[in-house]
Amino acid sequence: MKKHNYSAGPCILPQEVFEKSAQAILNFNDSGLSLLEISHRSKDFVAVMEEARSLVIELLGLEGKGYSAIFLGGGASLEFLMVPYNLMKEGGKAAYLDTGTWANGAIKEAKYFGETVVVASSKEENYNYIPKGYTVPADADYFHCTSNNTIFGTQIKEFPTLDIPLVCDMSSDIFSRQMDFSKFDLIYAGAQKNMGPAGATLVVIKDEILGKTGRNIPSMLDYTKHIKAESMYNTPPVFPIYASLLTLKWLKKLGGIAAIEKINDAKATLLYTEIDRNPLFKGAAAVEDRSNMNATFLLNDLQHTDTFNAMLKEAGISGLPGHRSVGGFRASMYNALPLESVQVLVDVMQALEKAI
Ligand SMILES: *Cc1c(COP(=O)(O)O)cnc(C)c1O
Repeated sequence: MKKHNYSAGPCILPQEVFEKSAQAILNFNDSGLSLLEISHRSKDFVAVMEEARSLVIELLGLEGKGYSAIFLGGGASLEFLMVPYNLMKEGGKAAYLDTGTWANGAIKEAKYFGETVVVASSKEENYNYIPKGYTVPADADYFHCTSNNTIFGTQIKEFPTLDIPLVCDMSSDIFSRQMDFSKFDLIYAGAQKNMGPAGATLVVIKDEILGKTGRNIPSMLDYTKHIKAESMYNTPPVFPIYASLLTLKWLKKLGGIAAIEKINDAKATLLYTEIDRNPLFKGAAAVEDRSNMNATFLLNDLQHTDTFNAMLKEAGISGLPGHRSVGGFRASMYNALPLESVQVLVDVMQALEKAI
């Protein structure tokens, strides 16, 4: 039986992406060769890279606005240090919003490069809300935030308007909701949450913000070099990029971000309505900051845990246990998770209520 996969990442991708990428491993573009055994500089793969890069820009509505999209290795975690390396001036400073584990990871790396100001933090409440009303120093080289906090189930709904570059880790909600993406100067996202298999990281950069730090940047960590080489400075992670392209094409066919946002809203509304209605459960995050991607919730009475887990298993629901730092449950409802899977989860929550 096909599972209802709520894994937080790596996670569910569209079924057709699994099928088509598996096919490309056996016989890519009817060439008689596997995608895995051809040169990344071959015509066929260069076309994949070009299409993936331009589809990212198209889906984000950034055509003609001076942005480049590149696919790198190293995960979102490598961007934690590439961002300050490329954007923080020698002797300059950067501003960060601390909304959880991943934001913290980014702050830790920035400190290797210079003064790192944390403008606000929700750490004292175990990151169950998004700080608001903070001030960003006007002389910082950039401001960094995390749009969706995968572990804690919070999501930024409104981003500040600033006169300094706005950098955002969108690893777990990129392509999930409509936004004015031109508000951001640098966006990065590990592929494995809403786009493709682990191994590729998408970085979207407004070209004009680069080259201003006065630092000597090692080549592999220099965005400018990767952009100039059209994302082929070295051998790129070909398979994750190809699978990401298939997901992007799937998204475009569906109607793009506007269409998926409606589906994501419907999924989140269905689940949060049940969390709030069902007396056995409570949400973990502040209501106004709830994430549409990762819904964190708890059983009010822990003695029902085993019964609930057994019922989840019986229904074919996988990947629901919460992260150890929150406990309880986390339903990751990424783009490829169908509404029907959420209905199955809601049915189990209601069945638990009836059973006890
Ligand atoms: C998963 C995640 C990361 C880490 O990604 P890696 O690709 O494993 O380095 C960073 N930020 C956010 C928001 C994430 O969800």
